[in-house]
This record gives sequence, C-alpha cells and structure tokens, in this order.
Amino acid sequence: MTASLPRAAVFAGDEVGRHDTLNSNSASHPTAPADNSFLPGPVLLLGAPGVGKGTQAQLLVTKYGIPQISTGDLLRANKARGTELGLKAQSIMSTGQLVPDAIVNEMVLNRLREKDVERGYILDGYPRTLEQAKFLDETIADPEFLPRLPVIAVSIVASYDQLLQRITGRRICATCKSIYNIYTNPPKVDGICDCEGAPLSQRSDDTEPVFIQRMKTFEEQTAPVIAHYRALGRFEEADGNQDVEAVSAAVEAALFHLRQQATREVGA
Ligand SMILES: [Zn+2]
Repeated sequence: MTASLPRAAVFAGDEVGRHDTLNSNSASHPTAPADNSFLPGPVLLLGAPGVGKGTQAQLLVTKYGIPQISTGDLLRANKARGTELGLKAQSIMSTGQLVPDAIVNEMVLNRLREKDVERGYILDGYPRTLEQAKFLDETIADPEFLPRLPVIAVSIVASYDQLLQRITGRRICATCKSIYNIYTNPPKVDGICDCEGAPLSQRSDDTEPVFIQRMKTFEEQTAPVIAHYRALGRFEEADGNQDVEAVSAAVEAALFHLRQQATREVGA
C-alpha cells in the first residue's frame, strides 16, 4: 500500500524546504518581534492535510488580532444571509457544480472591504487557482484595500510519513471528543479512552487511500498558486515536522522575512 505512489512526487516540497528549515531557522531568519508592531498583512497559509494548518492559522489570528478568511465560511455566511451571491452559489452547487471563480472572487472582494482586515488577514482556501491569485493581487493593489501590502504565502510542509501517521493513527472518543494518536499520543489502554473508558474509533476517511487522494488533490491545486508567489519572491516554506510551538515560530519567521522583502519591493 505504502509503495503505491512515488513519495518524491507526492511531496515535492521537502527538498526545497530543507535549506530554510533544517539548520535552525533563527540563524537564517530574523525573528518576528514579540510585540504587536509587526503588520502581518495579507497572508496565504498553505498546508497539506494533517499538517496542522488550522491550528497555526488560529495562533496567528489570536496573536495579531487579524481575521481568518475562508471561502467555506464566506459561502456559508452568504447563503445564511441570503445575499445575491449566496443564492447564485447555492443554485450552482445544487446542480453538483463548483462555484465559479467570478462568484468566489466577488465574495472575497466584499469581505476585504470590511474594517477588521486593516492589520492583515489569513487566507484559507483562497486563492485556489492561478486566476484567483492574479485577481486577488490586482484587486488589493488598489489603494482602497487595506492594509496596502501584497500577499505573502507560507506553506507548512511535513514529510509524507509524518502526515500519514498523523492521519491514519488518529483515534477519537465519541463520548468526550478526546483525540489520540496511536503513534504519538496513545491512550493508556489500547483502544480505550483515558477519560471515561469509552471505546475509541477511527474516522472512516482517516485511511491511507483517502490520504493519498487528498494529497494528490492538494498538490495539484496548490502547485500553480505556489509557483505564482514563488516567482514573485513572496513564498516560503515552514518546517511542519515539529511540535506546534516550533512550527508556529517557523511560520512567523517566514512571514516576517517575506514581509520585510515585500515591503522593500513596493518601496513602502
Ligand atoms: Zn473519552
């Protein structure tokens, strides 16, 4: 099973990540200041399934007081409010089709006009295509949009084996919602929750075949977007093969470094 996909192809990012991440990041990158003077600006956070992107996004939201903007949330909010865009999206989705770029772009545009984005924001699931990336770049280049900073992109990368273990090793308790991992955080008794002794279960999609499919989709979708920001000198990787605090430090160092460069470029 493990050999069914060439690893190098699945996780092409490993090689590129090495120079940034292996010989201790603090030497090669300035560290982000601990106070709130750092302006993260528009940040695209990328990460393969299981890499802990959601956790890292939440940490940035809390630390910098900036919102996370996800297309999933925007779609739900637009549908709930019954906006014209929401209704359009709903009727398209009800036929089993994907919501077209134009509608997604406009939802994002409306969101970026709200006040809370002034210090920056974390983009999640957008831009997903090269067209969306170009649209976003052009849009926020207009001085109307705050903060007046270009998008920087950081991808959290971890090895294939590490991600596979995190996903296929996951066990959950239906009673208290505790999450275990049989490799890294096993319960005291095999298959039994430490809290109240309920049996642990595995989600039906936490399997290697599902993981492989999700990785393929992730790689295919993000490759053109990564290539776009890499060509602009606004892309870095952060080592995700570490504990949450160390990953967080790597993400912040990458953001700080990229923001310094991107700010110099526009002469701000
Ligand atoms: Zn439990």
